[in-house]
Amino acid sequence: ARDSGQQITPIPKITRDVWFTERDENIALSLKHTGNQLYKKQSPYQKVEVFETLAYGNMLTLDGMVMCTQKDEYVYHEMITHVPVLSHGNVKRALVIGGGDGGTVRELLRHENIEEVVLVEIDELVIEACKEHLPETASAFDHPKLKLLVADGIKYIQECANEAFDLIIVDSADPVGPGEGLFTAEFYQEVYRCLTANGIMITQSESPRFNTKVFVEIYDTYKGIFGQEKVHCYLAAIPTYPTGTWSFSFSSKGNAHPKDVDMAKAAAFSREHNLRYYNEDIHHAAFALPNFVKDLLKK
Ligand code: SAM
Repeated sequence: ARDSGQQITPIPKITRDVWFTERDENIALSLKHTGNQLYKKQSPYQKVEVFETLAYGNMLTLDGMVMCTQKDEYVYHEMITHVPVLSHGNVKRALVIGGGDGGTVRELLRHENIEEVVLVEIDELVIEACKEHLPETASAFDHPKLKLLVADGIKYIQECANEAFDLIIVDSADPVGPGEGLFTAEFYQEVYRCLTANGIMITQSESPRFNTKVFVEIYDTYKGIFGQEKVHCYLAAIPTYPTGTWSFSFSSKGNAHPKDVDMAKAAAFSREHNLRYYNEDIHHAAFALPNFVKDLLKK
């Protein structure tokens, strides 16, 4: 056909809808992807996968659950870090347990007064997958102030010295698989011991609407360890997590309080780093809770 100069009828491009679906018993979250799966490996701990989604860019999943996507990870990572660092005002040493995608340490390391960040991630395949396919999230792994350990965070905290860190962030997945032990009272007790006198513990505390039982239980546990008045909950809108409403806990060993943030400093920091979610208004507004969340926290 080519030789005779006739036009070749183009072969139609076959497109098909390929959906990733995170399922729970009664609810599911689906994202369309290209079908070109970028990463798929089974580690000793979990199935690590990266999909190329159409709406949210490359997406990391662990055992079929969404961990982060290129286009909305900034919400989670800005909120889990800047709220405590700017409330405390003088964080020098920070520990991150989990967080192998790198987003939390990337945000922490924007703060020049922080001298050392230790990241303890159990699964080196999470780090590998993110370095290859979510490079903006995994961009700080070579930072000179970062100490990266591929190890079990539960064991690390048991062996950690008293009062070693000003800030401990538990950047865990859901309470199933290797992350289950990161949701126990014994673990949080050890975290408390390892905090300096004015230290802060931050955890991702699931969705109050979707993971209601876990949400109620963990806040009860935090209050038992840190004291009723020392535990606060704050929220952020994260489209690719179930229900879109996500919570974080802020527990203070001393007197550090989220309302004590220096507004001018928070505003300047947000501007200087071109942050896309966190700013001085969000810092306060995130602690304003709907009544159904307040009720859950009273239980
Ligand atoms: N942003 C995510 C979310 O809320 O869905 C969570 C981040 S994900 C990268 C959590 C990480 O915790 C995973 O990479 C997992 O391998 C790690 N992890 C689970 N159990 C752990 C443990 N015992 N010690 C250290 N890291 C752990």
